[in-house]
Amino acid sequence: MAKRVAVIGAGPSGLAQLRAFQSAKMAGAEIPEVVCFEKQSNWGGLWNYTWRTGLDENGEPVHSSMYRYLWSNGPKEGLEFADYSFEEHFGKQIASYPPRAVLFDYIQGRVVKAGVRDWIRFSTPVRFVKYNEDKGNFTVTAHDMKADRMYEEEFDNVIVASGHFSTPNVPEYPGFDRFGGRVLHAHDFRDAMEFNGKDILLLGSSYSAEDIGSQCWKYGAKSVTVAYRNAPLGYDWPENFVEVPALERVDETTAYFKDGTSKRVDAIILCTGYKHHFPYLPDDLRLKTANRLAAADLYKGVVWVNNPKLFYVGMQDQWFTFNMFDAQAWWVRDAIMGRIAVPADKAVLLADVVDRVAREDAGQDAHDAIHYQGDYVKELIAETDYPSFDVDGACEAFFEWKEHKKAGIMTFRNHAYKSVITGTMAPVHHTPWKDALEDSLEAYLRN
Ligand SMILES: Cc1cc2nc3c(=O)[nH]c(=O)nc-3n(C[C@H](O)[C@H](O)[C@H](O)COP(=O)(O)OP(=O)(O)OC[C@H]3O[C@@H](n4cnc5c(N)ncnc54)[C@H](O)[C@@H]3O)c2cc1C
Repeated sequence: MAKRVAVIGAGPSGLAQLRAFQSAKMAGAEIPEVVCFEKQSNWGGLWNYTWRTGLDENGEPVHSSMYRYLWSNGPKEGLEFADYSFEEHFGKQIASYPPRAVLFDYIQGRVVKAGVRDWIRFSTPVRFVKYNEDKGNFTVTAHDMKADRMYEEEFDNVIVASGHFSTPNVPEYPGFDRFGGRVLHAHDFRDAMEFNGKDILLLGSSYSAEDIGSQCWKYGAKSVTVAYRNAPLGYDWPENFVEVPALERVDETTAYFKDGTSKRVDAIILCTGYKHHFPYLPDDLRLKTANRLAAADLYKGVVWVNNPKLFYVGMQDQWFTFNMFDAQAWWVRDAIMGRIAVPADKAVLLADVVDRVAREDAGQDAHDAIHYQGDYVKELIAETDYPSFDVDGACEAFFEWKEHKKAGIMTFRNHAYKSVITGTMAPVHHTPWKDALEDSLEAYLRN
């Protein structure tokens, strides 16, 4: 009987996994039966936009953390699928920083072409996964929300691809309970227009603070203040956009900072990160890691060292995204299909993790981190038949992007880069990012 494989999540990582198995099937291999469980009613993961916050239509925590007007925060040339270029999907080369709807369409295009939608059980959150020592397999408990039916099925392997930018990390500061304005986490931010004409405070110094602050500025916030804990983002911000040291407390109207300054604000947005959160996994199967490039306890970044029949895809902090998930998915497929041997000795698996952590720790800066992750992508690709591509070229696009951000945080998205898959240059977008207020696919693709 064919092996049975469960994939949890149909975001970019889970979809990469389905495409990996489908490509082996197309090449004539006998593949396992693959069942993908997805709690949302559609695929795309975080890229599947919803206006909802809090709970979804089934009473489940809303997964997506994305917002209207979100444009890719890095060049698309760094994430392009090696087996499905932007030109193949759109019939032409497109500009380098697509809005969310454009990237959703691209992600979807590849799996529509692969014909794997039938492998996915939508509106079906996984409730629990248990390893059966006696049988050497897993029991997955899932909840079919449409039929409101819980059921169990057995699988030989489980691949966790449920993402890790969805469950917010929410700190509390003195005075939050009496602040008169809104306090929200970035996970619940949906529309910058809400803050038009307002003075807003953001806490954090990573992508969320940088991008949500920029969005709010673009859509007419009166002022943007970003409070950092360790180091400022350090860009050359517009006049009504400032960075200040850490927040200490707030009262009904005003925020007070570590350097003794204060600012009256209308709303506070907590850009304070996300937690790896797997409420459906017991302790012996559950990944506990910081958001870093070398995730804890994963051999080759994907095999759970405590039970190598369990895999995780997409759990690293990410410079590379879609093509790294592909590299991982192809590798996991081959491990499951017996084309790659996973060492049986746990000490060997653990030594690999220790080595990856040490190599990441030896890096000095973002430049080293990009190289580190690029090398990881190359390492995995070399062991499978995923189409090899110019990973160093993708790293170069990231380096250029970092320089363009330094040169102008509100203008970097006006730049264009060369595809490392097709070799063609992206056109410059028809409208500078700052002036492009509509984020639809039609508006972006217009010549
Ligand atoms: C605000 C924001 C902006 C970003 N912008 C970019 C960008 O511009 N470019 C870029 O490359 N990356 C960006 N990212 C990074 C993002 O992590 C990846 O692009 C990508 O979405 C990760 O894919 P994933 O499949 O690993 O996880 P996700 O996209 O999170 O997908 C996980 C899937 O698992 C499902 N799921 C969760 N729990 C269960 C369960 N119990 N049972 C069944 N299904 C479950 C979810 O519903 C979801 O569909 C951004 C992330 C955030 C938060």
